[in-house]
Amino acid sequence: MSANPRPLVAGNWKMNSLRADANALAAGVAAKHKAAGEIACDVLVCPPFHLLTEVSAAVAGSGVQLGAQTCHTGVSGAHTGDVSAEMIADCGATYVIVGHSERRADHGEDDATVKARAEAAHRASLNAIVCIGETEGERDAGNALNVVESQLAGSMPDAATAANTVVAYEPVWAIGTGRTANTDEIKEVHDHIRKILVARFGDDGNGMRILYGGSMKAENADGIMAVENVNGGLIGGAALKAETFWPIVEAAL
Ligand code: PEP
Repeated sequence: MSANPRPLVAGNWKMNSLRADANALAAGVAAKHKAAGEIACDVLVCPPFHLLTEVSAAVAGSGVQLGAQTCHTGVSGAHTGDVSAEMIADCGATYVIVGHSERRADHGEDDATVKARAEAAHRASLNAIVCIGETEGERDAGNALNVVESQLAGSMPDAATAANTVVAYEPVWAIGTGRTANTDEIKEVHDHIRKILVARFGDDGNGMRILYGGSMKAENADGIMAVENVNGGLIGGAALKAETFWPIVEAAL
């Protein structure tokens, strides 16, 4: 894999949008992609589970790809309320986010669970976007790099490759807060992640995309995307409107 991976900009819609708004948003992003034509960036939208099929239809043929926000570790069975990676793939998705800090906090997901979810994604031929990132307290204590290193060690499957796994560095204190890590902070962590990925996965570690996430928007995207070892973004709030999401895609080109 090349050391200069094709960027990915992924919109995480979280628990937002009823059907009409979701369809309008999907159609808006699809229209922007269609108008842009062939671009040197993968574009992904990750709606809530129940909208996957509709959004799949809304973005069909536009170049916009579809992902989910988590998956269960099993294929099927008695797991009320859960959705398997196979079910997600069956809706036309090609990606799934695992280990988002909101899942880690709200549902007690630890590194071992996140790794099992990423392995489930691979079993269903989905790309896994593995999220890691330190809390504000951990950064203030000078532990950001150690936390990220330990989360990577525990959350990444041994079979991860540049073709099936993406890492998203999302400092918890920057998610949904309007506070963005500065480019020096981002560079330090992304360089560290790259070193760890190369040490563990060899050449694939060079090709793996490392996304930044945390209050990225049109105003700061150019500077963040220009940082070495930033290969795109995982976008929350700004992904809820095509007009605020698309400039971030353009910043990645
Ligand atoms: C996220 O939830 O992954 C995220 C980065 O959110 P926001 O862009 O709103 O900070």
